[in-house]
Amino acid sequence: MISLAIIGGGPAGLSAGLYATRGGIKDVVLFERGMPGGQIINSSEIENYPGVKEVVSGIDFMEPWQEQCFRFGLIHNMNEVIRVSKNGKYFDILLADGKIEQAKSVIVCTGGTPRRSGIKGETEFWGKGVSVCATCDGFFYKNKDVAVLGGGDTALEEAIYLTRMCNKVYLIHRRNEFRAAPITIEHVKNNPKIEVVTPNIIDEIIGSNSVNAIKVTNIDTKESKDIKVDGLFVFVGYDVNTSVLMQENNQPLCDLTSSGHVKVDLNMKTSIEGLFAAGDLRESALKQVVIAAGDGAVAALNAIEYLESTK
Ligand SMILES: Cc1cc2nc3c(=O)[nH]c(=O)nc-3n(C[C@H](O)[C@H](O)[C@H](O)COP(=O)(O)OP(=O)(O)OC[C@H]3O[C@@H](n4cnc5c(N)ncnc54)[C@H](O)[C@@H]3O)c2cc1C
Repeated sequence: MISLAIIGGGPAGLSAGLYATRGGIKDVVLFERGMPGGQIINSSEIENYPGVKEVVSGIDFMEPWQEQCFRFGLIHNMNEVIRVSKNGKYFDILLADGKIEQAKSVIVCTGGTPRRSGIKGETEFWGKGVSVCATCDGFFYKNKDVAVLGGGDTALEEAIYLTRMCNKVYLIHRRNEFRAAPITIEHVKNNPKIEVVTPNIIDEIIGSNSVNAIKVTNIDTKESKDIKVDGLFVFVGYDVNTSVLMQENNQPLCDLTSSGHVKVDLNMKTSIEGLFAAGDLRESALKQVVIAAGDGAVAALNAIEYLESTK
């Protein structure tokens, strides 16, 4: 019997693993379908984690995290989890190889995946001018011109955020109307640094080693033009990785928000006793490494308390 199962080995899962093992819990197993590290290993640079003085790649940044956890006894099971379900007072964890493991408590840290737009050049310039996170990368475009793609709350909020450091922000959206809160739309319209470019689509990202421009086409007039920018921020949706919580009857194991994030309290407790959620998949997550790591620690400390209370 596993004491504590952690699902997902990103910053939240590894930090939970560290706090649980150092907190004296035996049999803590981390289920991670790939290499531990999480989404940040796809990033070419991270410079906003406190205490890290130099810009490092996501892979180099995350490598010591797993080593530190394994030193304290965290067990890595390289497997995909299909489903977590409640079986009496314990949890069943169905794995991709068909095996079922049992755990007394579970922390779900499966994160999320920003959707890609599929625009020509997006893959080529991913991390070299194309970004999905203004908080992470906005600083690299200080006093430069950038474009934001998208028409929802996230796109508009990130566009406003980028005006704090960028010279100009082009907001590209295929419709004339935005799907954002009226007050956010108002703020965008009143921001002198934002130029709204609608109803337009981006045909192509142009550059050599980095982004130099985007080619846009007006859907109504069919007119095309190039806009010179140093970066493109893509906000076309976000998939929360909660499939492990979906039960055979297609209902989630615990309460989710309308956007599909896991509802938690300040202790990262979900609506099911003994089940915790931490990191980008929980409600109101600000989707940063430092926050996911903090969540993981909070969840682990509360899981320890839960395990003690059920002895
Ligand atoms: C390109 C990019 C650049 C970024 N740059 C920065 C930055 O500069 N600074 C910053 O603070 N943040 C940055 N972020 C955001 C940061 O990466 C996330 O906030 C953070 O990784 C969230 O951590 P997490 O542990 O919640 O989830 P994740 O990092 O998403 O980790 C989830 C893990 O769960 C695993 N998993 C998912 N489902 C299953 C399953 N069914 N079975 C087993 N394993 C599973 C995944 O393989 C993954 O390893 C960036 C994100 C991206 C995509």
